Amino acid sequence: MKISELEKLENEGTDKLPSEERRRFLKFGLAVTGVFLGGSVLSLTSVRNAQGVTGAKPATGKFSYPKHYTMVLRQNRCIDCERCKEACVKTNHVPGYGYRTTIMEQMRDIGGGKTEPVFMPVLCNHCNRPPCVRVCPTTATYKDKETGIVMMAKERCIGCKTCMAACPYNARYFDETAGVRAVDKCNFCWDTRISKGETQTACAEACPAGVRIFGLLNDESSKVYKLIHAPDKKVWVQRPETGAMPNVFYIND
Ligand code: SF4
Ligand code: SF4
Repeated sequence: MKISELEKLENEGTDKLPSEERRRFLKFGLAVTGVFLGGSVLSLTSVRNAQGVTGAKPATGKFSYPKHYTMVLRQNRCIDCERCKEACVKTNHVPGYGYRTTIMEQMRDIGGGKTEPVFMPVLCNHCNRPPCVRVCPTTATYKDKETGIVMMAKERCIGCKTCMAACPYNARYFDETAGVRAVDKCNFCWDTRISKGETQTACAEACPAGVRIFGLLNDESSKVYKLIHAPDKKVWVQRPETGAMPNVFYIND
């Protein structure tokens, strides 16, 4: 299917989900599209906006960030082993009461009175219009101009938690650790791995099912670029109606 055709399809949003399902997702601060629940499509507009271009196939060099990091999640491959989460906790010293990434579970009706579990890995979406950044009074959280990663400068965090309230995805927690006491969230393992020359986040490296694909959206030879631009793939983001322009994408592949 072509991107132009996808965009003509209706965005199901959350309005058409059964109210009980909607409640359960919204309880987590998340809502997902009909794709996740076996329906159709969410728009690809965010893919374009993430790249700061208007064409379906952006020309090389016209990207928002010199190194535009992103993650594509092959959602249907997730088996809920949580190795990604364990690797993240270990690598980034995430305390037991918080998470930088986790797995949501939903039961899907498969007919005949039967249900099956569906798993959905979630993390910070590194939004291109991040509400968390907009509301932070001290610029402790900011969108990095080189990488597009939404970062935390913990020394500037005053613990007001305004960013936590503003994030539509519940992607932040407050780290109470002595000597830290600041909001924390996924930063694509920037300080622990990527800035040191590693090419994979801890979660992507640990996943045995190949769910998490991390890479550069401005590199046409990268796997993330190819997955997002595959003409026959449906790509979706979480809750596009927030206007945050998520920079983490989902496909079934
Ligand atoms: S998902 Fe939440 S924490 Fe991450 S950039 Fe978007 S608004 Fe900020
Ligand atoms: S490691 Fe991969 S398969 Fe296991 S829970 Fe995480 S995303 Fe799912």
